[in-house]
Amino acid sequence: MSSRPGKTAPRLLQDLLTYDPRYEERAGRNLLTTSPPQFDPKGPPARAVPGRNCRHVFMTKNEQSVLPKAGEDPDHQTVYKIASFCKQCRWHVDLLVDFRDDGSKAEPCRTGTDYIMHHFVYQDEDPPHNDTLSRQKVPCTYRFSCSAPKCPVELKIRMTPPRFTDDDFSLLTNTQILRKRLETARQVGGDRADAQIARPVDALDYLNTYLGDALNPQKGKNRIPLLNRKFLKTFGKDCDKLLRRLGFTFNEEIQDDGSVIEVYYLPNPPPATSPLDHDTQRNLIEDARYELNVFILEIPENERTGARHPGILPHPSSTDLQRALGCLDYEKKSGMTRAQVQASHEEDHPYYAGLGTVGDFADSLLLYAFSRQGYVDSANSSYYFECLQDIAKGRKSEALELQVAMLASKGFYNRQDIDLAYRYLSLDPQYSLHLSDDIIIDQFRARLQDIGPSAVEETRNMLRVIGCARQSERIIQEASDAIETYEQALSWLGLTADQPDDFVVTMYSLKVSDNAADRATANRAVEKIAEQRGSQRLRDYLKNGVLGDTEMDTAEAYALLSISNRAVKLDLDMLHTQMQSFADSNPTSKEKYERAFELVRKDQQENPKQSDNGESDVPAPDYPLDTWPVGCKNIGNTCYLNSVLQFLFTIKPLRDMVVNCDDHLQETTPEALKNKRVGRETVTQEKVKEAQEFVQELRELFQQMITASTYTVRPKENLAALALAKASATSLQSTSNSTAEAGLGNIGDVPIIGPMPNPTATDNSLHGPVRGDSDVKTIGSDTSSTVAEDGDHVMGEDAPTSAGDQGVAKPEPPSRPPPIPPRPQASGVADSAMKKIEFDASQQDAAEILNNVFDLLSCAFKGEGVLDDGEQLDFIKRLFFSSVTSVTLQKGEELRNKELQNNHLVSPNKRDRPLYAALDDEFSKTEVDENTSQKNAEEGTSTGKEKTLRYAFMEDASPIQIINVRRLIFEDNKPKKDDSHLQLTPEIFFDRYMKETTSRSETKLAALREQQWGLQSQLKGMESRKAQLTDTELKSALPEVVEEGAEMIEDINKTASDQLVDVDDPGLLPAYPDLAEHMRLQANHLQKEIEVLLQQMKDIDQQINSLWTGCEDNPYRLHAVFMHRGSATGGHYWIYIHDFQQCIWRKYNDERVSKVENIDEIFKQEEKYPATSTGIVYVREDALTKLTEAVCREPEVQPEDRMEIDGVELQVINGVPDS
Ligand SMILES: [Zn+2]
Ligand SMILES: [Zn+2]
Repeated sequence: MSSRPGKTAPRLLQDLLTYDPRYEERAGRNLLTTSPPQFDPKGPPARAVPGRNCRHVFMTKNEQSVLPKAGEDPDHQTVYKIASFCKQCRWHVDLLVDFRDDGSKAEPCRTGTDYIMHHFVYQDEDPPHNDTLSRQKVPCTYRFSCSAPKCPVELKIRMTPPRFTDDDFSLLTNTQILRKRLETARQVGGDRADAQIARPVDALDYLNTYLGDALNPQKGKNRIPLLNRKFLKTFGKDCDKLLRRLGFTFNEEIQDDGSVIEVYYLPNPPPATSPLDHDTQRNLIEDARYELNVFILEIPENERTGARHPGILPHPSSTDLQRALGCLDYEKKSGMTRAQVQASHEEDHPYYAGLGTVGDFADSLLLYAFSRQGYVDSANSSYYFECLQDIAKGRKSEALELQVAMLASKGFYNRQDIDLAYRYLSLDPQYSLHLSDDIIIDQFRARLQDIGPSAVEETRNMLRVIGCARQSERIIQEASDAIETYEQALSWLGLTADQPDDFVVTMYSLKVSDNAADRATANRAVEKIAEQRGSQRLRDYLKNGVLGDTEMDTAEAYALLSISNRAVKLDLDMLHTQMQSFADSNPTSKEKYERAFELVRKDQQENPKQSDNGESDVPAPDYPLDTWPVGCKNIGNTCYLNSVLQFLFTIKPLRDMVVNCDDHLQETTPEALKNKRVGRETVTQEKVKEAQEFVQELRELFQQMITASTYTVRPKENLAALALAKASATSLQSTSNSTAEAGLGNIGDVPIIGPMPNPTATDNSLHGPVRGDSDVKTIGSDTSSTVAEDGDHVMGEDAPTSAGDQGVAKPEPPSRPPPIPPRPQASGVADSAMKKIEFDASQQDAAEILNNVFDLLSCAFKGEGVLDDGEQLDFIKRLFFSSVTSVTLQKGEELRNKELQNNHLVSPNKRDRPLYAALDDEFSKTEVDENTSQKNAEEGTSTGKEKTLRYAFMEDASPIQIINVRRLIFEDNKPKKDDSHLQLTPEIFFDRYMKETTSRSETKLAALREQQWGLQSQLKGMESRKAQLTDTELKSALPEVVEEGAEMIEDINKTASDQLVDVDDPGLLPAYPDLAEHMRLQANHLQKEIEVLLQQMKDIDQQINSLWTGCEDNPYRLHAVFMHRGSATGGHYWIYIHDFQQCIWRKYNDERVSKVENIDEIFKQEEKYPATSTGIVYVREDALTKLTEAVCREPEVQPEDRMEIDGVELQVINGVPDS
């Protein structure tokens, strides 16, 4: 079936009446064969039909038609043809309704059947025309067929341009031409010539007569001597071409007296045949006569007296057309008169056209059209539902609204519902077509972990809406909380396969006490588990509400020993060891474990099992367990945390330090802490203890990552909480404490709100603002402005003490999974500073966690020394912190300020460009005062008196360079993600950002920099021009805006000239007749300008690069890329990390760590719904293997054994994430 929308017969007719091939390009689509674009209620009103289009008035050409008769029923031989022409534009239209078929389709649509009206779907053009221009010159035939399954009707609509052009008309009627003809006639004919000039009506009238005679030949009336008085002055020789085209022939005849005369013979068409033929010479002449009559009628009545043909037109076609299409008498909306109906069509709301209907349809017909549209174009059924819903509302029709409500309950949703559902899951509906079911389901599962029980049902509903819209059984299934499988039952109860029946009951009681409404589902889940495990105890529990102390059964025995797959043959010795270790760690249950082992042994011996020599149905893992990094489970929307942890793990000195932390931890005596400065703050005992708690947790995780006998490990909630507890909590100090609690209840907890791309205003300096701020402020001062004005969070700066002693309680480690933190409550928190903090909290991202972790590590570990400014020197400083000098130039004075900085923050600036270009922006000389920055861009680097300029360079670059990418931008006060591509290279040189290098002195580098700034200021000018051109308030680029303006003016001009009454309003518009054309030209120029600008900007990027050719003393290699996919309000993080030992890239996506087979995935950007880099890590080339090591594994159990006894692991291998 076609996936094109269709049109009911009245709609198609309505569109036929306004389709004007002359202006097809203007309309942007073929009004007849296409449906209007989906209506955007928020968009600007758009004209359905261009103002210039002829609103045709068709008249029937009887001799070419086979007309339907009133009351006639079509049969297998029936063909109707309505040949007509428009009495205004003179285009000819043949409508052919063909009921002929092979007998298999015998039920044409009609009232009283299931298919009450034809619903036409466009098929093709015959023959096809590729351009709209040719459609203006030659006949075109469009083929439609009815979508009703048993309706035989095929419809052909043939449009033929007029037989006479406007030039032809002027050749026959222009008085100056006629005057010339009279003069020529006098020269040629002498006395015989007429004295009077021919009237405009004469040529039309004579030609009409000649053609009439040609159709009905009469003896002796087939030739016209050229010297005929009337002919000579009316036509002359200059009409020869026109006459020949109509079939006249020219001849020279020798008279009896020997003289030669020139004559025209009338056309001699063949006799009339079937009306179904078209384009015969006879048709041509007939058509020409109809058009001549139209012309004649355009001549004022008093100028056509005495004409032989008064100009008579045949009857209008509208009844014929409607009858042929079976819509002469359809059921109309009650209360509509015929006149209203006719007047209303053009102003129909676009939703009517969307359904392929017109405004006067009765409700029942609207429902019919809705179901037909859904049938032929199910992909857009949400839009059709929206159309119907809105019309029902607009009509205030209770019956229709009831129908709509019923449809809604059957799973129909409108586009807004669906958009809302996508947004609810932090997915961008705009990209819905590019999202796979997997992405959506993953997002849903991640969200479930992040919300309270009361929101679960709503979230499920949202997923169900998406499922219905996509007609995805999988998603609908996921959305229903129906427990269909053992796995679903376990996951619903928050269990894993290895947990025994007793724990099933515990979780069951918890669920039901949380929410009694869940009881039915909980029962189903337990039933499912009982069934799978064959557990009579669980069945009894469901029946009696008591878990009897009955004998253990085999299934439970397997579960108790953590074996999830009973079908696999087990190594019983191995299992025995396993059992003993369970028993040792839980001596009170020793008996139980032994009993379980006996049961399993019995089952293994008595029942045949699959052997484990590769025949088992468990797929082999993709990578060897003992040489492959482990994944980290997502413990609740914390994929950004996992990326950070994975990254830290690969930094060898850091990992070693953490794993062997005991020797290096900071003592916590007051004396030892007296001079300790981290982030230029003194460090309290509590802060150090908290930091050390974090290090212990991190050590435990790292050790697991090294020794785990599984492919995944699960970071602990406490680790997450400590890593996420951010300094913003302490910013509260300067705001009201009463509001603090409400908003910050969630800050220290794990999942908080969904992660976002890098915030606009994350400060990238440890010690306070370096660039981009209006002043070089004193460290640690004025915390309130940090919060209230620019929202920066400067790690450590305004955090003199730990979060713990600010009254913001560190969360207790959750006692059972999954943690469900409260969502932030907006009510009662009107305070703007508070909102700011909530906003910041929602922006927790990889960059900030990294800052926080560095801070924690410095606090936890002993220093190795003290830096110039009192700051503790330690391995974190040595690895990650560069010394950056920012130079401020003001009033001729130069102010240098040296800072330690652990990352550079760059902006893509809404265009795809190399990383260098973005870094250049951060280091280059820029004006600080924002008010005059525009001006400065044009003046280049000249320093005005009041201007403050600033640039920066690195005095000392750390071996690991972290570059954070500012992805979150604000447009119209809304957060938006800038997903422009930042082109990365495997190698980068930091020379151009250095104070001096081995081969280039400070002066040399400064000179190069000056050159670069010159080029950059050109670039700035272009950027702002480009912004003017592309960012208009109308949400479209300037060229489009101008083009639309031109169109509007044309429409107005057209209307004005149609009405011919501009007496009241003497000519505002007529004064600029060419305005529209000028505007269109201008639009073209602007479009060109944008293209040229973009090219020039690229060129300058390159020129800048070539300036620095040869500056290669500080090579760095790309080590890691933090990635984000999603919108400004949420999405998913992962990280790519390069293994310099094995020379491969890996993708760490939560629990999955896989090899990157095609590195384009890192270096190139997808076209649709692209993932973007949010953080980029380069490592100095000479220290690559010393500083990084991606793989560090010493699994405690051999892989073969693990496969059989580790339930969790099996699930991962099977590709079923169990989180
Ligand atoms: Zn027309
Ligand atoms: Zn039909």
